[in-house]
Amino acid sequence: MRLESETHELEAIAKAFQIISKEMSYEGVARALLKEALSYSGAARGGVLLSKGGELLAKADASFPRERAEFFTSHPVAGEFRLPADISERVLARQETVVRQASSRGSALIDPVEPPPQSITQLCLPLVHQERTIGVLYLESERRETFTSRCISMISMLASQAAVFFESTQLFEALRETNLWMVKGQQIGRMGSYRWNTRTLLSRASRECYRIFDVDLDVNPVPFEVFKSRIYPDDLPDLEQALAEAVSAKSPFSHEYRVVHRNGSILHVAAVGQFDLGPTGDVELEGIITDITERKAAEQALTDARNELARAVRLASLGELAGSIVHEINQPLTGIIMSAEACLRWLAREPTEPGEARKSALRVIEQGRRARDVVTGLRSLARAAQLKFTDVQINDAIEEILLLLKRDIERADVTLRTALDRSKLIVEGDRVQLQQVVHNLVRNAIDAMIATNEGPRLLTVSSKAAEGHVSVEIADTGIGIASTNRERLFDALYTTKGDGLGLGLSICRKIIAVHGGRLWVEENTAHGATFTFTLPLRPSATVSN
Ligand code: ADP
Repeated sequence: MRLESETHELEAIAKAFQIISKEMSYEGVARALLKEALSYSGAARGGVLLSKGGELLAKADASFPRERAEFFTSHPVAGEFRLPADISERVLARQETVVRQASSRGSALIDPVEPPPQSITQLCLPLVHQERTIGVLYLESERRETFTSRCISMISMLASQAAVFFESTQLFEALRETNLWMVKGQQIGRMGSYRWNTRTLLSRASRECYRIFDVDLDVNPVPFEVFKSRIYPDDLPDLEQALAEAVSAKSPFSHEYRVVHRNGSILHVAAVGQFDLGPTGDVELEGIITDITERKAAEQALTDARNELARAVRLASLGELAGSIVHEINQPLTGIIMSAEACLRWLAREPTEPGEARKSALRVIEQGRRARDVVTGLRSLARAAQLKFTDVQINDAIEEILLLLKRDIERADVTLRTALDRSKLIVEGDRVQLQQVVHNLVRNAIDAMIATNEGPRLLTVSSKAAEGHVSVEIADTGIGIASTNRERLFDALYTTKGDGLGLGLSICRKIIAVHGGRLWVEENTAHGATFTFTLPLRPSATVSN
């Protein structure tokens, strides 16, 4: 008989364990523990006192700061849940289980909506996990015999098990939070993670992957066919080949391709991955897919801008060359007219001189060809050519130009001072165009100094690196600039020189802008002007000598 009731008790406790273990939240575990303990013991009321958010209290910390505590009571209380000081001391600090008779004034439930009778029995036990008190389970009954020693030991078991569940819900919460961060991070970075089983061809993928591939969330795991149906058809053969090669060599996988959504929109993605053994022993490819659509669009915009600039630069050079070209074409044209007239004259003679006429006609052809060559050269100049971006050591590029202009500098009686940063500053750019900027600025500086006889003619060219940029200064002691004109200098066709075209500075500014930098001018305090341009340094491109 006794055995049977014990079996019943154990079954009841096992069931209570099960119920508590199903709870996923901290509060859920507390409420389930209270409910099961009340129903098992037959006590009337109770409460669970917990440190907030599962924060564990030091073993000896009996103070249980109110702002860090949470209460869950079985019955609504008008006042609050407050453990009598002596119970608090014994249970919290010494981790003892307390059973005692008390008057209803000694209840931990202050002003319960249904007041208890005069005398009550209290059971209070600590919730201990790994020797630390994380809270208290409190029960009270109107019957003296409610908390038998058997009942107490069963409830203690329940309480200690609940303490473990508190710990695991805390871990679960932490895990869920981490997972939320990861999902958010992937969303922001437009980056999804995946694991693809090379045998079953099924994939498990993060939420962001589902978005990138426009796959419904209830498809899990995702069959390869579903991913495949989203690949831009032209890109599929290359992707399949890259995958097959990576699978057979077990080498790291990296490939860019396009994805088509069901609504027709197209995404550019970059996939990377590496192989390892999955939990089932199958070879799996684990990796990351990044949505690079925006980056691609930005790259295209930059390429377009650079191409447009290249064209503008060439058209401008064309303008500058126009003068000399007119001369180049005029010469053969005059020659053609003269030879044709001579030819007519030889033919008009009596008798005609076909030999001489033929020679004149041949000269017409020859000079016509020269004119055609000049025009062909012009056309190739005007054609949009792409800028060539390479690593440029900016100081070397500047020094080359200064060397090229050495004779002009000397002839203008200008003293040159250079103060170039000694580290090898590398920028990514079109070397020739950047040199054209320096050439233009130095030429302008020389012109500005020739235009004045005041003071010494001093040209200072310096460069220095700061915060990922290099700034290059070209300072002169020339005529300087009126502050009202400061911005107009950069307008196309603005010139103060009789033979000037006024295109140099506007082109320089465009070239620098396309390289991600800025060009401006400042008046010097004494004489002249200083032109400064900045360029972004290639990351980790500064090599000290
Ligand atoms: P251009 O040299 O053909 O006139 P730019 O665009 O290079 O065309 O220059 C425009 C104008 O800016 C020049 O005509 C000149 O008046 C002014 N300028 C340029 N550089 C300087 C300088 N270093 N000092 C004073 N004025 C300058």
